[in-house]
Order: sequence, then C-alpha cells, then structure tokens
Amino acid sequence: MGCIYKDPNAPVESRIKDLLCRMTLQEKIGQMTQIERSVATLSAIKHRCIGSVLSGGGSNPFYKANSADWADMIDGFQNAALESRLGIPLIYGVDAVHGNNNVYGATIFPHNIGVGATRDADLVRRIGEVTALEVRASGAHYAFAPCVAISRDPRWGRCYESYSEDTEVVRKMTSLVTGLQGQPPEGHPKGYPFLAGRKNVIACAKHFVGDGGTDYGTNEGDTIISYDDLERIHMAPYLDCISQGVCTIMASYSSWNGIKLHAHHFLLTEILKDKLGFKGFVISDWEALDRLCVPRGSNYRQCIMSAVNAGIDMVMVPFRFELFLGEFLSLVESGEIPMSRIDDAVERILRVKFVAGIFEHPLSDRSLLDVVRCKPHRELARAAVRKSLVLLKNGKDQKIPFLPLDKNTKRILVAGTHADDLGYQCGGWTATWEGKSGRITDGTTILDAIKEVVGSETEVTYELIPSPETFAGQNFSYAVVAVGEAPYVQTGGDDPELKIPLNGAELVSSVADQVPTLVILITGRPLVLEPWLLEKIDALVVAWLPGSEGQGITDVIFGDYGFHGRLPATWFKSVDQLPLHIGNQDSYDPLFPFGFGLNYENKGDLNSTDDM
Ligand code: BGC
Repeated sequence: MGCIYKDPNAPVESRIKDLLCRMTLQEKIGQMTQIERSVATLSAIKHRCIGSVLSGGGSNPFYKANSADWADMIDGFQNAALESRLGIPLIYGVDAVHGNNNVYGATIFPHNIGVGATRDADLVRRIGEVTALEVRASGAHYAFAPCVAISRDPRWGRCYESYSEDTEVVRKMTSLVTGLQGQPPEGHPKGYPFLAGRKNVIACAKHFVGDGGTDYGTNEGDTIISYDDLERIHMAPYLDCISQGVCTIMASYSSWNGIKLHAHHFLLTEILKDKLGFKGFVISDWEALDRLCVPRGSNYRQCIMSAVNAGIDMVMVPFRFELFLGEFLSLVESGEIPMSRIDDAVERILRVKFVAGIFEHPLSDRSLLDVVRCKPHRELARAAVRKSLVLLKNGKDQKIPFLPLDKNTKRILVAGTHADDLGYQCGGWTATWEGKSGRITDGTTILDAIKEVVGSETEVTYELIPSPETFAGQNFSYAVVAVGEAPYVQTGGDDPELKIPLNGAELVSSVADQVPTLVILITGRPLVLEPWLLEKIDALVVAWLPGSEGQGITDVIFGDYGFHGRLPATWFKSVDQLPLHIGNQDSYDPLFPFGFGLNYENKGDLNSTDDM
C-alpha cells in the first residue's frame, strides 16, 4: 500500500499526520527553515530537507532575468527538494508586492498607497489574480503580500507599502488575498488556509502587528498603545485576511510596548493562533531573529529559542542556515524548545503545502508564460493608475479649471526628474530591493505616454531640468512637470523632513514662473507643499508610485477619463503636526483632509468626503 501523504484524495489532515510521523527531527527543522536563493545549494536543499527558498527583496538569478529564466531556476531548486528522502516539495517565496515586481517584463501595478486611493476592493482582487498568474508563470508559489499595515505617520519609510492610514480602507483592500489565493467556498472553516488552484499563489499578510504605528514612524520601532487600540486599529485587517483563508502571516520587526513581535508569545500564539484561530503558518521576517538581541546577531541560540517558542513556525533565516540548523537542533534535543512546538509548526507548514497542491504540482507551468504582461494585464494596471490619481488643485483659484489639458495645442513642455524615468515611477521593490532609476523593465513613462497621445501637429519638448534658454523664443501653451521621490525601501526611506527631494520645489517653481504648469507628484506619501508653491502652480495631481503604465496618467489629465482617487492619507501642512491622521480629530488641521480629491464634475468641492 502507498503512503497516505502521497494520496491526493486523502484528507489533508490525514496526509499531514502520516507524513509527520515519518519525519526525523532534522527533517522537521529543515521544513521550518527558509533560505536565500544565493546560498541555496542543491545539496543543502536535498539533504537538509529545506522547507522554503526565497528571493529576498527581489534577489534575481541575474540582471534582467525574465519569467522563463526564473522558472528554470526555481524548478532546479524544486527538483533537488523532490529528491530528498521523503520527496517533500519546497515553496519558493518572492516579494511580489505590486505585481511580480522582481521579474523583468512583468506588469507593475501602483504601490499600495496608490491602490488605497482607489478605494476599489474589486480592482484590488483583480490585481491579486493577475499578480498570482505572473508569479506562478515565473515558477514561484508564494508572495509576501499583502502588507496590511496601517501607516499612521508618513515619516515611515514603508508608508507606500500601506494602503492607508485608515483601518477601514485597509480592511477593504485585503481582497488582494482572495485575488492571490482564490475564493474559498461557502462554509470554508474559519482560519483554515485556502488555495484554489495552479493559477493562485500562497499569500502572506504582513507585518503582524502594529508595524505602521511606531513612534515617529521609525521603521522597526516601537508601537506604544493599549491592547484595545492595537486590536481596533492595527489587528482588524488580519481578521479579514484570516476569514479569506490567508495561508501565512509574517511577524513584524517592530515591538509592541517594548517587546519585539518576534518574541511575543501573547500576540503570536495566544491571540493570533488561539483566539483568532489562524491555522496556517507564521513566518519570521528576514534576519529578524538576529535582531532580537543587542548587538544584532549576538546570542543567536537564545534568539532562536525565544522566537520559536513564541510561535514563529518558519524562519526566514536567510543566510547562515548551517549555524541556525545546528543551534536549533540542540535546543530541541535539550528540551528548551518542546517537541510539541516543532510538531505544531511543521503541521502548519505541511498543511499549507498540501492545501496549495504543491505535492501534486511542484514544478512551474510553462503554459502560463504567455500571460506575462499580456494586454489585459497591462490594461488592468493602467486602469488602476487612472483610479489612483488624486487631483489636489485645478486652476489658479480653483475656479477656472486648468485640466483637462488640450491634446492638440501647438507646443508643450515636459520637464522634471520623474517625467521620463520608469524606475522612479515604480519606486522601491522593483527590479531590485531598493529600486532604481532608468528603463528597469518594460513600460511607458509619462513622457512616452504624452508623446503617444498628443496630436500629430503638437510639438513636445522635453527637458529634465529646463534652463532659461528653454523658454527663450519658445511659446509653450503649458508645461507638465513631474517631480517627487527617488526610490527607497524600509529604514532607508525614514525621513523626518519630507521635502520634495531632488530640488523638486525649485524645479517646479522655475517652470511655473514662465508657463502655466501642471505638476505631477510621484511619491509614496504626502510631502511638504509650501503655500507659495501651491499658489504658483495651475494644477496638482498626486500619482503616487504608479508602476509600469504611464498611460494611466495621460488617460486622465487629457480628459478621456475622470479623476476618482481620494487621499488615503492626511496631507499635513508641516511636519511639526505629525503624526496627523484621522485618528486624532481634536487637533486635525491638515492641508488636505483624508479622503480629499477633486474631480472634473465636482470641481472645487472640498467637502466631498462620502465613501471614504
Ligand atoms: C521585509 C519583508 C519582506 C522580506 C523578504 C524584509 O526585510 O520586511 O516585508 O517580505 O524582507 O524580502
């Protein structure tokens, strides 16, 4: 008789039980280990029974590797896993946080803050479906998304990974889980992981919990609030993810009232697993165990013990895995980590692997390669850009509208650091971890899109930084100036000042002195907008970090579509007001309130805050 665990028709819980009792302790801790692609040897995967490999922050097999290259690499790792004693497949994880953003030629969606501006849960679900298809095409099974952080302070370097400062908006946007994993059937048991099929990927709600509530918006900082507020403000979206069958949840680097989440037995085990009934697995963040002790990396043995005993099931090690495995083994042998904890963790990991069908379909499906960046995917991303744009000013005194722009005018000036830079348009977590400038993937910049859409008689002049000569003798009807933030990630993005970088304000000012000007702000968060600057310009559109489809912007500024976006975050007047969010209504005196956004039909209506 064959093994029960290999029988696709046997109930998942019976398969888990059968496999678990065949596994050695070494194999169990191997399953609890996630290692980085760059250190993942085929021999380690096979002999250590490694449970998962990841491309941390997008670490690519090589520069400009496309989906087929990725699938070759991942299948190679998988074949090694299948050769292990029990043939347990691995799961390959990627940070597909706005489309399959690490892979050359993928469809890149707006970052979450832009998606939050749309308030459109169905759109988010469809983004999840497309992302799942493109991730699956590249051979990976597991996306570290969605980030359901409630960003209470734009000084936080991960503000753009958060859909909103408002819990209700983020709750709506958790529909990404259903998009990625598929829709669980009626009556699906609460808390039990779900995955519909081979076109879906394992999702990961992150970072549990309170990552966006830290003091001063410090990345990996401390969130100092009562349990009631933690539950009400930051934990609520996890309930929505759990009810959609989210397979995994990532712990946060941050602390709650001084205690690191990775060592928080109360929050990880008593609340998340016991009270909320989460039956998938909890994964650590990257090298987060190393950060449990000061100085970083010291007393590793103690860190492993605290984290696993607190409830971490899979550890994103990611590099020094031989050391990790050795220390981990001795902790279990000495009884400092109980065997019951190991079995619970491995059951959870195997449950996700069985539910996700990885045992039946471990390798990539090459027939999916054709869908990567196909027309419907690009169209969806373009529609998402359209819906994410927030119009903050239209016309000098908000009376005579400046937009929509005329496509058939004689001469247009396009300028600014962000007008012709696809990498800047995509932001961090694109092509590389920190993102970068230039033609990093396929897509259209704002300049490309303008050239494509204007009339054949219209002359488009592009200057990155216009000089006085640009204006001499030229008669521009108007200028489109795109400025904003250069790509950044995580702690590298923490910024106490929030000025428009790269001399953005000066650049805008120098153009607006000469020509009527529309400013397009490419940013992952509200930035300082001085009154004199706002005064000077004719129109202001916030385009967030829109991704690969620049035409979504021209669709709207030239009037083919309307404006729909509403601020997902309060626009402060000055950084002294921070943290300023809808939670502190007593002292709420913003430049533009949460939910603000003008449209073509309702110009100048500052009070249109319904359906926020
Ligand atoms: C980030 C996570 C990410 C992980 C893997 C960490 O530094 O905090 O959001 O999923 O790296 O790249």
